[in-house]
Amino acid sequence: MSVLKIKNLQVSLNKKNILDKIDLSIKNGETHILMGQNGAGKSTLAQSIMGNPNYSVKGEISFDTHSLLELDPQQRAALGIFLSFQQILEIPGVKIYDYLKLLHKKSHEKKLTPMKFKAFLKERMEILSFNEEFLKRSLNHGFSGGEKKKMEVLQMLVLEPKLIILDEIDSGLDIDAIEAVAKAVNFLKKEKKSSVLLITHYSRILNFLSVDHVHLLSKGKIVKDGDGLLVKQIEAKGFAAFLKE
Ligand code: ADP
Ligand code: MG
Repeated sequence: MSVLKIKNLQVSLNKKNILDKIDLSIKNGETHILMGQNGAGKSTLAQSIMGNPNYSVKGEISFDTHSLLELDPQQRAALGIFLSFQQILEIPGVKIYDYLKLLHKKSHEKKLTPMKFKAFLKERMEILSFNEEFLKRSLNHGFSGGEKKKMEVLQMLVLEPKLIILDEIDSGLDIDAIEAVAKAVNFLKKEKKSSVLLITHYSRILNFLSVDHVHLLSKGKIVKDGDGLLVKQIEAKGFAAFLKE
């Protein structure tokens, strides 16, 4: 069964048409890769799924049995959709531990005892090689770019979303951090049967992650679908070779 189903999606921003006739279905537990040149509309697709109100959206997006277009971003998140941000907020004064505890409480019906929550968090922090000192710091304050991204992934591991959307999370990360992100995704795929839509320019992360489908977006349209091999071909030959076909 499809977790996410997009049909004949058309998205515009300030009256400019950005996405056109997009069809995309992601089944339970599948990993899909979305590639395309800068400006192709990849982030627009991710933002439209999440419900960014700046875009005007026509067509259908459904998630499980819910039609998403009537729902605001918070309601979509509550259904189990997670989108990583390309820009990350700094909130000095909010301790990471308290923030993650709140996130867990809001996203899970079953409350954990403080001891069980600590164990829950420890298991997830180990995936990302965060040490316990980290929990005492304030949210994203004075973090490096890589730490901010790993912090986002830690939030994802606490939320345990059914659909993970990562928008160029691997850009600017070193290979160890990329492997850690992939490990986190694999953890949720295994534990929660989460589905994944990963936007990327590189095949590096795919050394650690198995892929079911790849979609190539160009000028707002999906122009090619394939399997994991397509990523390597695109990386080797460049986009232009595929756009001429
Ligand atoms: P990608 O993520 O694939 O690089 P985006 O989804 O960010 O592409 O952008 C898709 C298109 O939307 C681009 O052509 C871009 O120029 C346009 N765009 C982005 N932001 C705005 C804006 N605020 N106003 C008008 N057009 C925009
Ligand atoms: Mg983008």
